[in-house]
Amino acid sequence: MKMEQNKRILLVHPEISRTKYNFAGIIDNEPLELEYLWTALENAGFEPHIWDGQVETEPFVKRLSELSPAAVYICGRTRQEGFMKEYARAAKSAGAVTMIGGLHAQRCASRFFTDYIDFVFTGFDPAPAAEILLGKEPRRVRSVCWKRGRKWVKNLSAPDDINTLPRPDRTYFYEHTDRYRYLELKPAAHVRASYSCPYRCSFCIRNAMNCGTYSARDIADVVDEIAGIECENIYFIDDDFLFGEERLRTFIRLVKERNIRKRYVCYGRADFVAAHPELMKELRDIGFYYVLVGLEAADESYLDRYSKRSDMGANEKAVKILNDLGINAMGMFITDLDFTAKEFRSIWKWVVKHDLKHAAISIYTPEMNTPEIKNYRGRLLTHDPSHWDYLHVVAKPSKLSVRAYYFHYHVLLIRLFIRAWRQGIYDFIDYKFFIGSMVKNLFRFGG
Ligand code: SF4
Repeated sequence: MKMEQNKRILLVHPEISRTKYNFAGIIDNEPLELEYLWTALENAGFEPHIWDGQVETEPFVKRLSELSPAAVYICGRTRQEGFMKEYARAAKSAGAVTMIGGLHAQRCASRFFTDYIDFVFTGFDPAPAAEILLGKEPRRVRSVCWKRGRKWVKNLSAPDDINTLPRPDRTYFYEHTDRYRYLELKPAAHVRASYSCPYRCSFCIRNAMNCGTYSARDIADVVDEIAGIECENIYFIDDDFLFGEERLRTFIRLVKERNIRKRYVCYGRADFVAAHPELMKELRDIGFYYVLVGLEAADESYLDRYSKRSDMGANEKAVKILNDLGINAMGMFITDLDFTAKEFRSIWKWVVKHDLKHAAISIYTPEMNTPEIKNYRGRLLTHDPSHWDYLHVVAKPSKLSVRAYYFHYHVLLIRLFIRAWRQGIYDFIDYKFFIGSMVKNLFRFGG
């Protein structure tokens, strides 16, 4: 399937949601995966274009008809599956080759096995997509699903080495620096220094990425990339950036040697922060500004249940260390489907007691195509992928009705929002709108 004449390839990241309750304008993520693909395609002689539904004002179908691309590649997460399919259908009707990739496709490829989709990619390396477009026989390309006649064939997925990736082309990011942000850090450029995660928390799918193989970049190359990015805020989107003490020490040394002055956001585990107060201080000194920590629970039993391999003592210590250093701790919690009303209140009490300034709450969501979802098979309330956004109750709670569950969940959110409002953080947020939406949603999720 060689592209002889038309070299235009449209790379698409759909909008996150079509409700107003979507956190647009609060956290908008640079489409890094498409920017990697951009470089790979340009190096292969193609003319890539990006359409990111988070920031575009021109509708997708209009761009599609103006550009008339030879192929359309669409990536997204579970919650975006419906939009991905809608755009693929439109692209196929316009005569384009249709390709699907991204986090959801990597784990749930067969959900995209339809007549209007031609290829589904199951790795994060952009090379297989370029190889297909250059005309290489699909059976010789790794990590791709393709059609032989009407039958789908799944080629072997092999773990990729992140060090083989090209530098992402950030042309599109620089054109939209008014939009890509992490809270008040605007613009914020995404950087990936590793892929997948060496831990195995039971609720999490990040460790299943790259065939379950953790792959980390040469840290000197990461520093080199950061030095070249024209943006003072860097958001490490690694699932766990705080991994490997020596690697982090080298990172700090190189950033200092090169006199790089930026602010950083990263994910890290509570047990690592708790065990490395001195290292955290050094990271603070070179600009670490937000550390996103998976605290998950206010009760030890849930940490054990989730195979977190950490404990409440580490959570408390981590928040104290970050608070004392003046690093913004963003504590991420899960409200379990076995929660009682008291357990929602326990999270609130923990946040107040430990003076956690930033808290993010996700409703426990058994991920598709995992051993975990089998435990919830009889309890599932929906099969709509747009509900896999951690804001919806997708399986029946065991101790509360769905109405009562949403009530306690939204009360927790409202309390946290009012607390943040009083503390004067996130002053760019329309608090009245969000709190109003939560009050309206007290007994359901309605957007
Ligand atoms: S929750 Fe964090 S530490 Fe645990 S597997 Fe997922 S990314 Fe890794």
